[in-house]
Amino acid sequence: MKEIVIATHNKHKILEFTRILEPMGIKLKTADLPEVEETGTTFSENALLKAESAFKTTGLPSVADDSGLEVDALGGEPGVYSARYAGVDGDDKANNKKLLKNLENVKDEDRTARFVCTIAYVDKNIRFTVRGTCEGKIAFSENGGNGFGYDPLFIGEGGCFGELSDAQKDSVSHRGQALLKFKEKLEELNLC
Ligand code: IMP
Repeated sequence: MKEIVIATHNKHKILEFTRILEPMGIKLKTADLPEVEETGTTFSENALLKAESAFKTTGLPSVADDSGLEVDALGGEPGVYSARYAGVDGDDKANNKKLLKNLENVKDEDRTARFVCTIAYVDKNIRFTVRGTCEGKIAFSENGGNGFGYDPLFIGEGGCFGELSDAQKDSVSHRGQALLKFKEKLEELNLC
């Protein structure tokens, strides 16, 4: 079984990565890693910053993701700033409140959005990124208590992500799509 260090402190992401990669024969390890400033302007730059830092610290193959929500009526915001949209990193409640406020006067048909996830892999010879997306719309109020982040406001294939089971979310989510591509890439490069 291949072991890869996962560079995130987000327990929801660790669970989603584990659910999808473990059945594929990949064991994820967490490590005590330094905080990385996400100074990139794209998901791909930020994912690489995190994976490279984890590889430098541990010397082991490392993976990181950077993800977020792009809302068309807001010119692609919150984008790479999704986690800290309302000012405090990881304050999901405040982020959702701000998103609803900013879309107050936006009609249903104009509330289109997508979740984006870029996964970066770094080892001593190879570095690559893969990207997964899922299209949907922003609801007018929060629904359900599952998932995390903007899930209670995101209506994608199958319904509102806040109301989907883990398996339902994985089968359509941006992270699910990116993880499938990630696995294919590891196979193509004979890394698993
Ligand atoms: P990151 O940790 O810098 O990748 O920030 C990701 C942020 O985007 C999270 O804090 C959430 O606000 C949002 N996000 C990313 N993926 C998801 C998801 O699957 N559901 C809900 N929100 C998400």
